[in-house]
Amino acid sequence: MRVYIIGAGPGDPKLLTLRGAELIESCPVVLYTGSLVPKEVIQRAKPDAKVMDSSGMTLDEIVAVIVEARNANHDVARVHTGDPMIFGSTAEQIRQLSALGIACEIIPGVSSFTAAAAAIGKELTLPELSQTIILTRAEGRTPVPDTQKLEDLARHQATLALFLSITLLGQVAKSLVPAYGEDCPVAVVHKATWPDQVIVTGTLSDIYEKVRAAKINATAMILVGRVLNSTDFANSRLYDPEFTHRFRIGNDRQVRDDK
Ligand code: SAH
Repeated sequence: MRVYIIGAGPGDPKLLTLRGAELIESCPVVLYTGSLVPKEVIQRAKPDAKVMDSSGMTLDEIVAVIVEARNANHDVARVHTGDPMIFGSTAEQIRQLSALGIACEIIPGVSSFTAAAAAIGKELTLPELSQTIILTRAEGRTPVPDTQKLEDLARHQATLALFLSITLLGQVAKSLVPAYGEDCPVAVVHKATWPDQVIVTGTLSDIYEKVRAAKINATAMILVGRVLNSTDFANSRLYDPEFTHRFRIGNDRQVRDDK
């Protein structure tokens, strides 16, 4: 018996992996994290599968359902939104299950931060502009470690992807202005890849008002950084005729390991 922790992707049911789909179709128990998992994904379950929404359950109740499945020697598909290993609260489940000797296997998913980047058609890493993406959240009711405050992370001027932070957008923008500048572009993508997806773009100085006007207050990814509107960035070296790498001899004729 196994628990398969499966990423359902950001919303479009076709963004589920083939492996995730196969497992949902074969497991006798399917436990999913509520309305952010598309119903088409859950409808793949066998007609006689036990299908449960965990959004109203406590951790102990979730573990109890899994223990019952173990006692019946039934595999469990535990379905999470996006990728299960990013803000998924999966570690605490895996810890409890492993203490009970129950094996887990993780099936990754398309995270909402990459879905949001795709929705706006922007690469998040650009040569010489940003080679780093910081995935984080603003501090609200959930504390953030002292060493990871937004103001401190901002000093790197990396591309930022903020989860779980849309209700704190005003504060977020204020914290970022000193490092990124008021004119730094921001994109807010609400329900990326769902039929009712909404994109709001602006700058650190006006994004709060724009998002308020659009009445977005849940399920949104905030992307921040100069990569979002740069057009004069350098080309990468990957396709540079001068540059040799593992798969192509370039005009430089020097063999290099990096790209
Ligand atoms: N594991 C998920 C994140 C779960 S935390 C993932 O990898 O995407 C929930 C947060 O994810 C939301 O507050 C929101 O910031 C973001 N999110 C999830 N689905 C989203 C979607 N379709 N569009 C935009 N943001 C989304």
